[in-house]
Amino acid sequence: MPRPDVFFVLLLCLLAPSLVLAGPAEWGSYSKRLELSRFVDYWQEAGSPSIRDVRQLPDEAWTRNGSDSVSLGYGASVYWFRVTLVNVLPSEASNFLEIGYPVLDHIEVYRELEGELVESLSLGDKRPFYDRPIHHRNFVVPLPLPPVSDTIVYLRVDTTSSMQLPMILWDQDAFYAAEQARSLFEGIYYGIVLVMILYNLFVFMAVGERSFLFYVGYIAAMPLFLASLHGVAFQYLWPEATWWNDQAIIVFLNLVVLFGGAFSIRFIRVTRQNHPLLNRWTWAMIMAAGGLALAGLVVPYRLMILPTILVAFVGCSTMLMLSVVRWIRQDPAARYYTVAWVFMLFGGIVLAMSKFTMLPRNLLTENATQVGSALGVILLSIALADRLNREKKRTFSAQQKLLREERKARLAQEKSLRVQQEANALLEQRVQERTRDLEALNQQLLELSATDPMTGLKNRGHFDQAFQSETVHAYRFGETLSLLVVDIDHFKSFNDRYGHLVGDDCLKMVADCIKRHVTRPQDLAARYGGEEFVVLLPDTPEAGALRVAERIRGDIQKTAFRVSDQVLHLTVSIGVCSRAPDQADATKILFACADEALYRAKAEGRNRVVVNSPAGQSEALCQV
Ligand code: GH3
Ligand code: MG
Ligand code: MG
Repeated sequence: MPRPDVFFVLLLCLLAPSLVLAGPAEWGSYSKRLELSRFVDYWQEAGSPSIRDVRQLPDEAWTRNGSDSVSLGYGASVYWFRVTLVNVLPSEASNFLEIGYPVLDHIEVYRELEGELVESLSLGDKRPFYDRPIHHRNFVVPLPLPPVSDTIVYLRVDTTSSMQLPMILWDQDAFYAAEQARSLFEGIYYGIVLVMILYNLFVFMAVGERSFLFYVGYIAAMPLFLASLHGVAFQYLWPEATWWNDQAIIVFLNLVVLFGGAFSIRFIRVTRQNHPLLNRWTWAMIMAAGGLALAGLVVPYRLMILPTILVAFVGCSTMLMLSVVRWIRQDPAARYYTVAWVFMLFGGIVLAMSKFTMLPRNLLTENATQVGSALGVILLSIALADRLNREKKRTFSAQQKLLREERKARLAQEKSLRVQQEANALLEQRVQERTRDLEALNQQLLELSATDPMTGLKNRGHFDQAFQSETVHAYRFGETLSLLVVDIDHFKSFNDRYGHLVGDDCLKMVADCIKRHVTRPQDLAARYGGEEFVVLLPDTPEAGALRVAERIRGDIQKTAFRVSDQVLHLTVSIGVCSRAPDQADATKILFACADEALYRAKAEGRNRVVVNSPAGQSEALCQV
């Protein structure tokens, strides 16, 4: 911020030329551009005089403006202006008269040459743009000055806008040369703003951050307001819309305040929590601007302009205050923001002051807004990008942190999964081991349950099962199944004589003998009960069965058995039955057949093998 004394020096410099008083405006050989404000007389219209009446007004009625700008403020009065132009050249000067305030409603221009009224012309923004003699955003009138002559120009100005009449007399060539520079200047300004609008609009579309939208609203309303004020909008956008041309200034200026306010409180975070009063104040201002913008669509310009300027002035000051407060509160976004607002407000305040005639109207006061706003727009855009960048960084680091946490969690999960898998594998291994043990145990149990504990032969239960299935098998394949029933002879008396323990040993000996002769894998020897044994010989014909039976009998007979000092011998009787079963359930028949043979062997004297042949005869093969 400039210091107050510096500000006053600046003000003095701006006002200084007005202290010099001058006579008529002279157009000499070096004249290219002549500011006419100092040479203008004005008269506030009373009644409804004609040009003739005005021309006849005494000089005392006129007031010399004398300053560097003609600014008579707002009011309902109509003013007449008079300026005398003296061409001292010996040749005609083909000049332009430019009135550089394009929002004036009605201007009537009269030219009096050497006491004769030679021309009159109607101008003003209440007439369509293309009615103008020169198609320019300002009012430009061709004004030839004959050689060595006095021309008096009268202007009647009736306007609802501020009564300003910045007049310049141009040499035509100089006018066009200056026009190039001005066009370039405006082109640069509108170019910058347009690019910024598009850029921020795209950023908004990409990011979705609402600040950017408000900002776009703000930087769109600002050039539209300036274009309306400077006649550019009238020239290029709505050359026929004479009513709207005035209203546009109201609407767009209010929109500037509305969007600027909305953008500010969001951008530098003036929230209801941290600044309740300022937040409410700014909202009230935004509402007022919104209301005025809407009203600007219907209520005439002359009623709207004063409240609008008031709201704009208060709004701009408020935003500057907000930015300073936020800067003091160390909001990083507020730094750029404040500088940007200083630029823009400087322009705005200078413009407002010139409208209220507190400052003269000149090139600096008129263009301060554009320069300030272009610089401000760029700075704010940088500020927005800066904030976006900060937020992106913050989001990025938060994301990184989240990623790290997630990775940690995943690793922990993987570890626990591994541990669980290992535990599962171990469990499975144990289960398999247990299953194997159980199977072995089961096998052992099966073996045990199928085995006769004393002799180590299969027991009766197992035999019954095997006998059943072998009978079915033999029936199915038409094979001969042989069954031997072995019974120890006179075992009861043996027991009685030597005791049961000795009897048991004998049983073991007989079992061993039987085992020795039952050699084929499918053969089965079992203890049937007491001292009776059975031998099942699948797929064995009678002759083979007899051979096995005889070997068993012979072996047992030969085997000596020692009890104390005695050597004892045992004998067995064996009944044999060999049949191809004629039905699946032939076990009973087969057994009865072998049993019958055994019975006969006993009956015939024991220690022999008797076969029960199918023919019905049984045959003793051997006897003691
Ligand atoms: P036979 O020549 O007619 O067959 O006369 P036996 O005395 O052998 O008569 P039997 O076949 O009826 O024999 C049954 C006897 O076998 C009864 C019992 O003394 C004896 N015995 C049965 N089971 C066992 C056993 O497990 N151990 C012992 N020591 N003797 C048994
Ligand atoms: Mg017996
Ligand atoms: Mg017996």
